Amino acid sequence: MTNIIEVNNLSFRYKNKFIFDNLNLAIKEGEWVSIVGPNGSGKTTLAKLLVGLLPSNDSIIVDNLPFNNDNMALVRKRIGIIFTNTSNYFVGETVADEIAFVLENQAYKHNEMESMIHNIAALLEIDKLLDKDPQTLSGGEKQKVALASVLVSDPKILIIDGALEMIDANTKKEIFNLISKLQKELSLTIINLTHDLEETYYADRIIVIKDGCILVDGPTKEVLKEDKVFNRIGLEIPFMVDLSIKLQLYGLIDKLIFDMNEMVDALWQ
Ligand code: ADP
Repeated sequence: MTNIIEVNNLSFRYKNKFIFDNLNLAIKEGEWVSIVGPNGSGKTTLAKLLVGLLPSNDSIIVDNLPFNNDNMALVRKRIGIIFTNTSNYFVGETVADEIAFVLENQAYKHNEMESMIHNIAALLEIDKLLDKDPQTLSGGEKQKVALASVLVSDPKILIIDGALEMIDANTKKEIFNLISKLQKELSLTIINLTHDLEETYYADRIIVIKDGCILVDGPTKEVLKEDKVFNRIGLEIPFMVDLSIKLQLYGLIDKLIFDMNEMVDALWQ
């Protein structure tokens, strides 16, 4: 598979504080990558660099286009991002207006917009919310609207920067299941930056960063076994991962299991 994002020797600093010094990273088209690290490790800075909110001096290539001033508009069309507080910036009087706002900015015609809004609302299961005031929605609904606003213009890459960390566990699961479905239907590449290791269950690959450096990079189920690394950098190991690692030591199961029912079945056999 081809690389949709390449980060080559990226260096970035705020005033005299280096956040990244020669960072290298490649993400394949269609991959779901979780970038995890404790607070202050550089996740949001990386997300901002990847969407061009901070300058990266030609060291980031998106879909074969170097991210620079000449290509800014083209590259931005390929990437959508949702942040923790995206909903603070809602401007529409209704959810439909909120989603339409993005399309208006990209100069879509009004007759195209209506079907685009309905299609994305159906995919995100928010059709019934289209006439509501976005400010009156629950946290989970707001994040679904934020996702719809980003995905309606059909980006190739979705970046989720801590956007679901404050959402309750059940709603988070529901939203991640929706994103999984969308990933397949829309052939999305997903980059989820978080300090919550439970969010990585959905990923194909985990990259662990600390102080702007990559500590571990590999398939999800391999990286989640690195409990010593997570302990050292202060990331909480999810209960099911911890339990799986211990049961594997006793030879009771032979892989990491994230779901309690699946665990019970495996132990019962
Ligand atoms: P994370 O998202 O992993 O918590 P950040 O990218 O937000 O990490 O921050 C990385 C480091 O950069 C932190 O030490 C933070 O204090 C610093 N930082 C973030 N934004 C700025 C800024 N605008 N000016 C100066 N330092 C910043």
